[in-house]
Order: sequence, then C-alpha cells, then structure tokens
Amino acid sequence: MALIDGMGRQITYLRLSVTDRCDFRCVYCMAEDMQFLPRSEVLSLEELATVAEAFVALGIRKIRLTGGEPLVRTGLVDLVARLSTLPGLDELTLTTNGARLAQFAHPLKVAGLDRINISLDSLRPERFRELTRTGRLEDVLAGIAAAREAGFRRIKLNSVILRGRNDDEVIDLVSFARHEQLDLAFIEEMPLGVIDEHDRARSFVPSAEILETIGQRHALLPSTDNTGGPARYYRMADSGIRIGVISPHSNNFCGSCNRVRVTASGRLLLCLGNGHGADLRTILRAHPGNLQQLQEAIQATLPQKPERHHFVLDEPPQIVRFMNMTGG
Ligand code: SAM
Ligand code: SF4
Repeated sequence: MALIDGMGRQITYLRLSVTDRCDFRCVYCMAEDMQFLPRSEVLSLEELATVAEAFVALGIRKIRLTGGEPLVRTGLVDLVARLSTLPGLDELTLTTNGARLAQFAHPLKVAGLDRINISLDSLRPERFRELTRTGRLEDVLAGIAAAREAGFRRIKLNSVILRGRNDDEVIDLVSFARHEQLDLAFIEEMPLGVIDEHDRARSFVPSAEILETIGQRHALLPSTDNTGGPARYYRMADSGIRIGVISPHSNNFCGSCNRVRVTASGRLLLCLGNGHGADLRTILRAHPGNLQQLQEAIQATLPQKPERHHFVLDEPPQIVRFMNMTGG
C-alpha cells in the first residue's frame, strides 16, 4: 500500500510526537508559562504503537520520534523497542534536546533506535541557559558524548539561530561539529505559536546569511546527499561532516514534501504550516488496536494535504500551536 496525497506526493515519513511536555522552555519554541495537555488527552504508549503500525502498513518507511522532549516520556525505550521491529520500517530516529541522553543513549541503542538528532543552539553555558530558560549545557554535552559512546553514527546537531542572541556563534558551532565529527543543520525560526519574549521578524536570520558566514571560513561544496527533504547539505574539503540549512521561509520545499505528523494528542497534521488534519485519538479510543479503522481515516484525510505552507514573519502567526504541540 502507498500513501499518495492529492498532489501526487508519496508520503513515506512520519514524525510522531510522544509528548508535548519538556524539561526546557526554549524561547523560540514555547512561552515561559506553558499549559500542557492533561494526561488523559495524550496518547498512551499502546496507542502510539498502534498509530505507528497503521502508518507503516500504509507505506511509511521512516519514523522520527519527537515532542516536546521525547526523553521525558516514561516508557519511551519500550516504545522504541516495539517500533524498531516493525516489518517494513527502514529507519527509526529521535529528535531530542539531549539533556537526558547520558542516561538513555545506551538503552535506546539496545532497543533498536537507528539515529539521533540533538538540538544545540549555544556553546556558552550562560547563553544556553537563557535560550532554553532551564537547560544546562553540560548535560547536553554529556548526552552527545553518551550517544557517541553508545555507538550512534551520523548524529546530527540542530541549531536555531536568532539575530542578536546567538548569530555570533555560527562559526563556533561549525568548529564544534567538525571537532566532534557530527553533522550540523541550521534551522530558520518558524512562526509557530505566539511568543512575547522576542519579535520573530527581528530575530529571523535567513539561511543564506548563515551560509555566507560559514563560507568566509570554509569553502562549502554542495553535497549529493540532498534527499528532497527540507534540508540542503554541504560538505567541506577538509572534513567528513555535512553542514545543512533548513529554510522553510527562504527555500520553499513543499513540492517534494514526503511527511506528515501526528501530535501527542493524536491529531494527524498534514502540514507544519497549516491546520489540515484529522483526530485519530477518537478513532483509537473507539476501536482500540483496530488498524483498519485508523488506516481508513488516514487515507481519507490525505487528499487534504495542502500544496504548501505560507509562513509570514511580520504578521500574527496563522498557526497558533507551539512547536512542542506540533512535534518538531
Ligand atoms: N525537544 C526536542 C528538541 O528540542 O530537539 C524535540 C522537539 S523540538 C520542537 C524539535 C526541533 O524544533 C528543535 O531542533 C527545535 O530547535 C526546533 N524548533 C522549535 N521551535 C521552533 C521554531 N519556532 N522554529 C524553528 N525551529 C523550532
Ligand atoms: Fe523543549 Fe525542544 Fe521546544 Fe526546546 S525546542 S522547548 S527542548 S520541545
């Protein structure tokens, strides 16, 4: 079976959010005082596994577990163990803030997780604390080390660069990635959710500027690793790592979009920048463990996948949900 949307795009990639909760409060992702979902509204581990099974049977080949912070979800390692054995799933990956990886990297590897992305926006402890509001840089550095020791390969760092906050750290982050032999992607800030901490229009740094900054220090060679996803990758002659930019504003990649998301509350979202989707939780709870009902709902919703998103920075956000709700 294959999932094909109304534009003829084949959907092979699911981002599954396992919680909306987080131990950080990153300034671009959340308000400082967040209201999280009541636990009864969050999918159980069993329901999350059922969702994954339904999607894999429909042709999904890659699942990324995300959140909120996936590592604050009790039972995550068990979920990974269950999903990693799904026949037909080629890759199971995780996006994390890294703070709990020192504890979980090894068990996750044993459970069958294939790859890890770790978010890291600053290498300066005080600034790291300011950007995450609660995080400790040393925990994340220990987490990165633990992920390497556990045997994870092609670990990727993700950095959101904000003007006036950490745009002077682009080269430091590249140097760190080169030294640690980690891939690194710079993500443009997206207007998801209303934040009052900074003005997204002022803080926005386009990918082109980041590439120019890096280019003054290291010659960047376009990479053949570009897979049609949102990231454009580059290599350097004197390093094996890849440098990527993810540019939802300046480089619209919707034409080749192959992904959908399911939020922690079981809402199927067809596009990061739009509201189109379906409530899978109601189906899951009316027909526990029934893959067919779920698959019919997914198939019926897919034609609504919009052609593209329309992010506008200097207008109030059209999408009022925060990134931790959406599943980053
Ligand atoms: N907590 C995990 C983490 O931080 O990696 C996973 C979830 S987080 C929502 C996933 C990614 O989304 C992170 O790399 C984060 O930096 C990014 N992100 C969050 N809010 C964003 C925004 N408004 N614009 C762009 N990226 C954002
Ligand atoms: Fe938490 Fe990740 Fe959002 Fe930061 S970006 S607040 S770590 S969910």
